[in-house]
Amino acid sequence: MKILIVDDSATIRAGLKGLVERMGHSATEAENGEEALQLYQRERPGLVLIDVMMPVMDGYDAARRMRDASPDEWVPIIFLSSKEDDQDLDRAIEAGGDDYLVKPVSFVVLNAKIRALHRIESMRSKLLDVSRDLASANRELEKLSRQDGLTGIANRRYFDSYLQTEVRRAARERQPLSLILADVDHFKAFNDQYGHQAGDDCLRQVASALGTAGRRPADLAARYGGEEFAMVLPGTGVDGAVDVARAVSRVIADLAITHARSAAGRNVTLSQGIASLTPEKETASEDLIQRADQALYQAKQQGRNRYVVFGGK
Ligand code: GH3
Ligand code: MG
Ligand code: MG
Repeated sequence: MKILIVDDSATIRAGLKGLVERMGHSATEAENGEEALQLYQRERPGLVLIDVMMPVMDGYDAARRMRDASPDEWVPIIFLSSKEDDQDLDRAIEAGGDDYLVKPVSFVVLNAKIRALHRIESMRSKLLDVSRDLASANRELEKLSRQDGLTGIANRRYFDSYLQTEVRRAARERQPLSLILADVDHFKAFNDQYGHQAGDDCLRQVASALGTAGRRPADLAARYGGEEFAMVLPGTGVDGAVDVARAVSRVIADLAITHARSAAGRNVTLSQGIASLTPEKETASEDLIQRADQALYQAKQQGRNRYVVFGGK
């Protein structure tokens, strides 16, 4: 460890340097508070041994400034003074010191004090590591809690809260908002034909294709449940939503996943229901879902592999 020794007496500095080096540490020296502060910032010592009475800037002032210079760090500061007064000790601790020793100080005492403070320092830094790990694990968990396990896109829970937030925002800003509900056509037959594994794989491909169809940063593709997906399109009116629905059909067609038992086409297709509105204060996100769901139902009724806009277009 590098130890910063601060004392205006060259003799005392030399004596302390000798002790510190006998303990196996290296020393760097300053002869007043101001010089100490500069060295402290430049050399980042592991511990500071500092005198109280010095010209230019005294030990109290220097300690205070060291603490201010690195409020999130903790470098142990030991005061070394020739004064035995309780008030002086109190002032030293108040200034940010961790210990106060009266000169002359013996090798054994100084060595023991340095070891004790060093032990606290390493516990503190372990704690910091643990709390950093914890924070990063929490961020990871938070991310996972929003994801659908199978497809990796947003899950139903996150979709619900996102849609609610966006409905409120759109009402406040008097902006249109669109929702597309999309359902894979004849997916039960797909599973029956190709197996559940292939079904899962198909859903993963559909999900990532949906992610590419809504290109604005606020667009959200989510798995609504089973083989049903949703796209929230903030700031998007009916024309924009129709554009996205067409893009969805196109990217799904481009996947060209064979579906021999579909009555709607040779490959996997989707039916989509679109609902657009400019929400009022009392509009609930369920209203939008209900409309998109009705439109989706009509798309199924009309033969699948198509989109229907709620209320017509
Ligand atoms: P429609 O065109 O009317 O939507 O017919 P469909 O067969 O797609 O609809 P239905 O609701 O009858 O069947 C949905 C099927 O989706 C049944 C279910 O087993 C399957 N499914 C739902 N979730 C998953 C999943 O996570 N993985 C797989 N492989 N299949 C799923
Ligand atoms: Mg279906
Ligand atoms: Mg379904």
